[in-house]
Amino acid sequence: MIVAVHRPTRVLIDEGAIYHNVHAAVASLDAGTDLFAVIKADAYGHGLLRVARIAIAAGASGFCVAVLDEALALRAAGFKQPVLVLGIIDPADAQLAAEQNIAVPVSELSWLQDAAQVLDGQRPLKVHTAVETGMGRIGFTHRADLRAASDYMSAHPDQFTHEGIFTHFATADSPDTQQFDRQVARFKEFVAVLATRPRYVHVANTATSLWHRACDSNLVRFGVGIYGLNPSGHDIPDLPYELEPALSLESALVFCKHVSKGTTVSYGATYTAERDEYIGTVPMGYADGWLRRLQGFHVLVDGHECEMIGRVCMDQFMIRLPHAYPRGTKVVLIGRSGDKQISLQDVADYAGTIHYEVACCLSARVPRVSVNPIS
Ligand SMILES: *Cc1c(COP(=O)(O)O)cnc(C)c1O
Repeated sequence: MIVAVHRPTRVLIDEGAIYHNVHAAVASLDAGTDLFAVIKADAYGHGLLRVARIAIAAGASGFCVAVLDEALALRAAGFKQPVLVLGIIDPADAQLAAEQNIAVPVSELSWLQDAAQVLDGQRPLKVHTAVETGMGRIGFTHRADLRAASDYMSAHPDQFTHEGIFTHFATADSPDTQQFDRQVARFKEFVAVLATRPRYVHVANTATSLWHRACDSNLVRFGVGIYGLNPSGHDIPDLPYELEPALSLESALVFCKHVSKGTTVSYGATYTAERDEYIGTVPMGYADGWLRRLQGFHVLVDGHECEMIGRVCMDQFMIRLPHAYPRGTKVVLIGRSGDKQISLQDVADYAGTIHYEVACCLSARVPRVSVNPIS
């Protein structure tokens, strides 16, 4: 992907906010509990290596990523801390993971048997057994199968180390704890069948770490909280510590024009000026992750909410301005302008989605720039 540095559109990442959020989370943990920073998907759009560095400085002891390539990128950048991939990798890549000291999840004995074909036994592969307790995504469904996999690893210690056991909650961000409690009970039944307790027992995502004390675990997989976002959206407003949003998004007017009543704007001519108006053009579009369905939402110019009029194009969109502004005038898409503010949550609410998705959709074409840097 070509990064558009010769364009005023920028994602600004507040490093101090990330540091604060991780530090507060680490400080809230029980003694003996580790925090792994979940930095999959380019750290939810905030920049993998930048967030990795700040998270370690703030007290994280390892990382979780989604895919093997993200883990390899951390190793290539020189990070020596534990790294756990959260998604199932191809057993053919097991040797690569083992060589790079990257831990992987396993959901079935046959995966171990396939991986054993490629593992040379020089360095055992670290395995975290995934347990299906109600998420319905990956993990052992039957205790006997988990036990068989655990026994298989014990019988092949040159190839496998059973380093962890974990599960994932479907409703940790909901005020209703019924499903959550059922999953906790099931997880405990699974852990009980193991002959020895692995080094890491983990269940908590951000929501669980904020609102639950669960499962006698000793590792938190802390994701969206790093970025200062409430995992529940609006559902659970109370937080044990303050989260500071780290991401803002800014651009600038590349063009401003006066139009007369009746002028139409953008594809489909869905907008018609009702009077003489000033219209600004902003160089950001759906190819940058500024979703087409944001038509009708607003951005901030000089402390004014300015409606996004007409369809969002691939690389540009138009706004209605209160009066003429010069080319180069700052446009705030996420962040603060005057006494007005737009959050990722506001954008997500308008687009009918969650802040996670809005952040991840901001494409690699938009440069990420650090502000308030942590040295
Ligand atoms: C993404 C993910 C997390 C992090 O979730 P947050 O809600 O961002 O804290 C934790 N565990 C697993 C298995 C995940 O896939």
